[in-house]
Amino acid sequence: MQILVTGGAGFIGGHLAQRFAADSHDVVVLDNRDPFYDLDIKHHNVEAGREAARNSGGSYEFVEGDVRDAELVTDLVADADYVYHQAAQAGVRPSVKNPRKYDEVNVDGTLNLLDACRDEGIERFVMASSSSVYGKPQYLPYDEQHPTTPVSPYGASKLAAERYACAYSEVYDLSTVALRYFTVYGPRMRPNMAISNFVSRCHNGEPPVIYGDGTQTRDFTYIEDVIDANMTLLHEDAADGQAINTGSTDNIEIKTLATEIRDQINPDLDLVYEERHDADAEHTHAATDRAEELLGYDPDHTIREGVSKFIDWYRDNRDWYEPLVRQS
Ligand code: NAD
Repeated sequence: MQILVTGGAGFIGGHLAQRFAADSHDVVVLDNRDPFYDLDIKHHNVEAGREAARNSGGSYEFVEGDVRDAELVTDLVADADYVYHQAAQAGVRPSVKNPRKYDEVNVDGTLNLLDACRDEGIERFVMASSSSVYGKPQYLPYDEQHPTTPVSPYGASKLAAERYACAYSEVYDLSTVALRYFTVYGPRMRPNMAISNFVSRCHNGEPPVIYGDGTQTRDFTYIEDVIDANMTLLHEDAADGQAINTGSTDNIEIKTLATEIRDQINPDLDLVYEERHDADAEHTHAATDRAEELLGYDPDHTIREGVSKFIDWYRDNRDWYEPLVRQS
C-alpha cells in the first residue's frame, strides 16, 4: 500500500511517515522544507523515516516540493492509495503578520490535493486540522458541534481547508476525514513550542517564561496518541466526511505544566510571567466522544507521562536539539 504524507519532514508528519514505514508500507513524503524553524529537525525527521523503512522492508521516498504545485501534487497522488495531509503553514502568532500565505498554503494547497484525490479515486484523504478552528469557547470542553469562530488567520485557514474536505466527501463521494489536533508535543517537536522552551530553560537553570497569568488551559496531546488515531483511519470506515477532535484526557493550566516540568528538572527555579499574546487562545479543551466512538480513540499518555518521555528524549538528543530551541 502506498501512502503519501504531505508535510512529512515536519513534526507530526515525520512521526506519521516513520510509523507507516515501520509498518512496512511504501511511504512518499512531499515537503518543501519550509524554513519556519530550523531545517536540522526536518533532516532528523526524514532520517527517522528512512531508517524505519530500512528496518522493516518498507520503502521511503522524500520529494522536496510544494503543495501549491498542482501538477506535482497530481503526479504524486496518482500513485497513492491513501493521502495523509499534514503540510501547513503552522503557527497562530505569525499568521497575524502574513495571513495571505496561510491562505495560499493551507487552503489552496489542500484544494490541490483534494482535486487530485477526487480525480484519482484514492481510498481516503486524511487531513490535520486544529483546535484553532473553534475560537473563543462558548462552552467547554469543545465538542464538534461547538460554533467555529476562529480568532486567527491560521485558525480560519484550517477551518476553510477542513470544510472543503467535508464538502468533497459530500459532493464527490471522496472519503475524507479531518482530525482536529490539540497542541501536540513529543520528540522532535517544533522548537518554538511552550513545552520545549520550558524544558530547555529549566535544563539551563533559567526560569520558565509564561505568557499571561498562566491560567490558560490546554489539552496537550502526546504525539504517539495522535499517530495512533491516524493509524486507525487506514481501516476504520465509519468516520467519512467528519471532523473529529483528538485531544488528551488531561486538560492542564500552563502554569501547572510549567511547574510540573520545573519540578522534574530543577525544582529550585521560580516561574516568570510576561505579557500574553492576543492571538493565543485562552482555553482549549476537547470532548473526545466522537473519536472514541468512531476510532476507538483512547489516549495512553497523561501529561506527566508524556512530559517525562519528552524529557528523557530531550536529554538523549540535547546536543543537536537544544541549540535549535534556544534560537527559536
Ligand atoms: P510542522 O511545521 O512541523 O510541519 C509542517 C510541515 O509542512 C513542515 O515540514 C513544512 O516544511 C511543510 N510545509 C509547509 N508549507 C508547505 C508547502 N507549501 N508545501 C509542502 N510542505 C509544506 O508542523 P506540525 O506541528 O507537524 O503540524 C502538522 C499539521 O498539524 C499542520 O497541518 C498543523 O496545522 C496541524 N496542527 C498541529 C498542531 C501541533 O500542536 N503541532 C496542532 C494543531 C494542528
